[in-house]
This record gives sequence, C-alpha cells and structure tokens, in this order.
Amino acid sequence: MRIGVLYLVSGPSGSGKSTLCRRLAAEGEAEFSVSCTTRQPRQGESHGREYHFLDRETFSRRIEAGEYLEHAEVHGNHYGTLKSEVIGRLKSGVDVVMDIDVQGAAQVRASEDPLIRRALVDLFVMPPDEEELAARLKGRATDSEEVIALRLRNAIEEMAHWQEYQYRLVSATHEEDYTRFKALLLGERLRVTRTLVP
Ligand code: 5GP
Repeated sequence: MRIGVLYLVSGPSGSGKSTLCRRLAAEGEAEFSVSCTTRQPRQGESHGREYHFLDRETFSRRIEAGEYLEHAEVHGNHYGTLKSEVIGRLKSGVDVVMDIDVQGAAQVRASEDPLIRRALVDLFVMPPDEEELAARLKGRATDSEEVIALRLRNAIEEMAHWQEYQYRLVSATHEEDYTRFKALLLGERLRVTRTLVP
C-alpha cells in the first residue's frame, strides 16, 4: 500500500502546463484536482470539469468554513483547492495532479499536514523564452488584448519563482514535454516516503 503522489504543477499561462495536467488525467495516470474559481467560464468550459465556478460570496463562505487547502487571488479572480479534492484520494493511494499558481504552491509547501508533506512533489513548467510566451498568449483567441497584456506581465513575474520548486521543465514539443512530465510521476511513485508502513 502507498499514499498517492500530490503532483503540484505551476507555470505561467502559455507554458503548456494545463495541457500536461489534463492529458495525465485523461490517460488515467492521476486524478485532476478541480479548483474553485470566481472567474467566468470560458467558452467550452463546464462547471465541475475545468473548475467549480462560484460567486464571490460562496467562495468566501468556503474559506471561512476551512474547506480550502490553499487559495489565492490570480489575475483579479479568486482560485482555491478544496481539501475534499485531494485528501481522500491521497489516503487511498490515488495520485492527484493540481494546476495552481505560485502563491498557492507556497501555501501547500508550508502545510503541516504529514500526509501532504509526504505526498507532495512540485514542478514548475516554463516556456523556453519570453518571446515564445508572448506568441503563445496572443495565439489564444479566447482572451481580449487587455487580458493578454495582464497575463504577460503576471507570467514574467511568476517565472521569477521557479527556484522555489523541486523540479523545472522547460517546454519543448508537446510530446517531449509529456514524456518528461509522466516520467517524473512514475519515478515519484517509487519513493519510500510514499509507502504506508503496515
Ligand atoms: P486560468 O484562469 O487561466 O484557468 O488560471 C489562471 C491561473 O490560476 C493559473 O496560473 C492556474 O494555475 C491558477 N489556478 C488554477 N486553480 C488554482 C487554485 O486552485 N489555486 C491557485 N492558487 N491557483 C490556481
């Protein structure tokens, strides 16, 4: 018996981290931790799949009730991971992948819960350079010019945090990225700290 790996992934918008997380979950390698957010759903997103879309009042009520493992304000909206998305799965040996920002990652890293401490592995995904990042963000038809500019500024700020993570993945092609991304999880499963002593 082993506890699950808590695979925490951060990186700026446009780094490709969401695609990696989604694919890992789609291939059944880990379960995706569906976050709560107060931002509006984008086209094609549905409630309970990409996010639990909440109004601000409901989001705040859940903070007060202590339901979040971490929460933060990102690009002017609130985002948070519910404990219920993570804890039970880790205990029953299911690997969980979470796509969260650098502030949330710092909170999870600071957790004193022994289960989280044993389960956690964190990875920062980054684009090869700023030019490539700008090109990727502009290629997203879903966001307005203003939103793209804000995301680019935030991305550059966010990238300064990569050294806080155990692992770093500089994005190349989708296939290469995914191979390395999955290899890390496979290796992490073998760690002695993940074994439950009978
Ligand atoms: P987006 O709105 O593009 O889906 O996500 C914006 C940012 O919020 C991304 O950097 C993503 O990693 C982050 N994010 C998504 N869910 C959570 C969460 O539950 N907690 C935190 N702290 N950040 C999150």
